Amino acid sequence: MSGPLLKVESLTKHYPLGAGLLKKTIPVVRAVEDVSFSVEAGETLCIVGESGCGKSTVARLLMRLTDPTAGRVLIDGADVAGLRKHELRAWRRRMQMVFQDPYSSLNPRLTAGQIITEPVENFERLSRKQRNALAADLLQKVGMSPEMMNRLPSELSGGQRQRLGIARALSLNPSLIIADEAVSALDVSVQAQILNLLLDLQQRMGIAFIFISHDLGVVEHIGHHVAVMYLGRIVELAPCEALFARPVHPYTEALIAAAPVPDPTRVRQTAPVEGEVPSPVNPPSGCAFHPRCPLAIERCQRELPPLVPMADGRVVACHVRAPVSEASKQPIVAGISQPVALRQWNLHNQLFVGIHG
Ligand code: ADP
Ligand code: MG
Repeated sequence: MSGPLLKVESLTKHYPLGAGLLKKTIPVVRAVEDVSFSVEAGETLCIVGESGCGKSTVARLLMRLTDPTAGRVLIDGADVAGLRKHELRAWRRRMQMVFQDPYSSLNPRLTAGQIITEPVENFERLSRKQRNALAADLLQKVGMSPEMMNRLPSELSGGQRQRLGIARALSLNPSLIIADEAVSALDVSVQAQILNLLLDLQQRMGIAFIFISHDLGVVEHIGHHVAVMYLGRIVELAPCEALFARPVHPYTEALIAAAPVPDPTRVRQTAPVEGEVPSPVNPPSGCAFHPRCPLAIERCQRELPPLVPMADGRVVACHVRAPVSEASKQPIVAGISQPVALRQWNLHNQLFVGIHG
């Protein structure tokens, strides 16, 4: 097979707010704006960004749980919108989702074995013997003992429940798994175990992942590519190593600095600067990050920065760090960059920025 497994072109989703009977224009939530990326078979694309930036909406659009306002989703080169019902159903088997909260996504009355074999039984009848064999195999794939198949979700730990969610997703032999905040509710040590499990499954089974997280720290070791979203748009999309070694967009830099990594070189003098995430109903003009950006220049208020391709394979939307004239040159000349640090990334999305020197 040639070409990417999944290609997303200018995907856009606006949710209308109310009926707007009296107004000429209905206000909309601009949840996803002009998002493009592709995923190769067997690779991991991470999508990161603060709560509300549109990550789950992208996942819902890919799963066809909601229709796009504009843009296309191509699967093995074919436009999903043009697929017939049975083709879409066949593709659905190949694309599975794992959610954040195993409590709410697993039926509490079913046993572990029933939960993980249910997707297969939606397609074909299994004898008791076949069901038990499948359950045992899936449990082993996610590092659990086959004896666990008779347990109820309430009798399992958070990490075990997330393993069940993954086993369920694996049951139909998918080509792609979308994991939306799949480790966010887990303790750090359990997070690491689940991330290692995903890496291991990818190596053994060649599954592609779209791994969605609000925490850049958890994606560092599992991503091949990382897309950073801000207010519905991708602001930087880069090979994972390059992104962490040298973030270009000031927002990426802030997110990396905010990730709890025990790295003394990342300690910076920081001064808290307040900044709420703007509303996606009425996003700021120009670059949506400009009101919170310490590097913003006048142009940032006026003009939406285009995604500019850089020499190292990344694309960045920033008038200051990635002006159009810099396209495909080295992204940052040593010394001219002004590092930005985020001291804390709290629940209220307060941005704390600090500038060197
Ligand atoms: P994330 O997963 O990054 O936290 P979401 O994709 O869930 O972000 O949401 C993006 C934006 O779209 C948010 O402002 C959210 O409130 C809004 N939104 C999500 N779903 C709906 C919906 N069904 N109707 C209206 N607005 C929505
Ligand atoms: Mg979400």
